Amino acid sequence: MADDTSHDPQRRLVLGGLAGGAAAAGLAGPAAAQTSGETPAASPLTEMRDPQDAYPQPPFERQQQDWPGLASEMTPVPDHGEESYVGSGRLTGRRALITGGDSGIGRAAAIAYAREGADVAINYLPAEEQDAQQVIALIEAEGRTAVAIPGDITDAAFCRDLVERAVEGLGGLDILVNNAGYQQFAESIEDISEEDFDTTMKTNIYAPFRITKAALPHMEAGSAIVITTSVVAEDPPEILFDYAQTKAANIIFAKALAKQLGPRGIRVNAVAPGPFWTPLQVVGGQPADAIPEFGASTVIGRPGQPVEIAPLYVLAASSEASYSTGQVFEATGG
Ligand code: NAD
Ligand code: MG
Repeated sequence: MADDTSHDPQRRLVLGGLAGGAAAAGLAGPAAAQTSGETPAASPLTEMRDPQDAYPQPPFERQQQDWPGLASEMTPVPDHGEESYVGSGRLTGRRALITGGDSGIGRAAAIAYAREGADVAINYLPAEEQDAQQVIALIEAEGRTAVAIPGDITDAAFCRDLVERAVEGLGGLDILVNNAGYQQFAESIEDISEEDFDTTMKTNIYAPFRITKAALPHMEAGSAIVITTSVVAEDPPEILFDYAQTKAANIIFAKALAKQLGPRGIRVNAVAPGPFWTPLQVVGGQPADAIPEFGASTVIGRPGQPVEIAPLYVLAASSEASYSTGQVFEATGG
């Protein structure tokens, strides 16, 4: 879009420089280093590198697990930032509840939040205890409080209980990340059972409604709510007929709730991943034959690793993004 700066190269240069500087400052790390004039050390994530081969590329080993699956049993094991995410105090003292925090995108958000200074409660299914305990250990390694709350969020009573236990364990709640999701591919609408359709709706639409409703009385001005939608909300693959509908609903969750909660000082945003290397995909989210070339058709040419989307969850929760609400932050691989 042309604006008044497009005709004035010098002004454009100044604005460009300012924007670049602000972006660099935002990503660069501890405020202390900024004010002392030192250039903070680059983290593995901020070092200059080619995004195409920064992480594993297709073809991948053909693999399937029983639902809900374990990240630790994927080949290669997804990168959730265990070794690489470096925090800079963006969420100091915040208290966050993340559903699906045991693996994949939720796990990457949990690790990043803890390294940014937050105490974190994670919800997951009892079958995922092994993945969950790894996340709990990583949060505690940062000296933060970690709360493990296994349970099934398709159960309305559990959704309320989950919030109560998170609030009790964390001493309050400032950040809610509705991230758990259920995705099973089906070639035809005629192959989708009543039960499967119901599980998809209950997990992806009812649970965020119930959990958010229970959480709101505990959230004060400055709090943030995040929901995980998907690129499929705008461009639905024919094999994700039911799932894609729920992800479209998740966008409206963010946009409509943002309007309701603006006057209470609570921001609501959505994060939209493209193809990410997580258990969801190898437990029936994709046909087994699609796994070897998963993510190959993106501009970057490979699937995202969960750590690559963690910064968007940090940004959505952080007060740095105080003017962003009702937005959809994307990491789709192009
Ligand atoms: P994942 O399998 O690591 O995480 C999904 C989590 O949902 C599971 O770990 C599980 O703990 C939780 N869950 C599912 N059903 C549950 C239930 N009934 N009760 C409690 N917890 C339950 O996979 P992921 O890809 O990290 O998924 C996280 C979110 O990202 C989901 O909302 C998914 O729709 C979304 N997403 C993923 C991709 C992708 O390519 N991986 C793309 C777009 C959107
Ligand atoms: Mg899991």
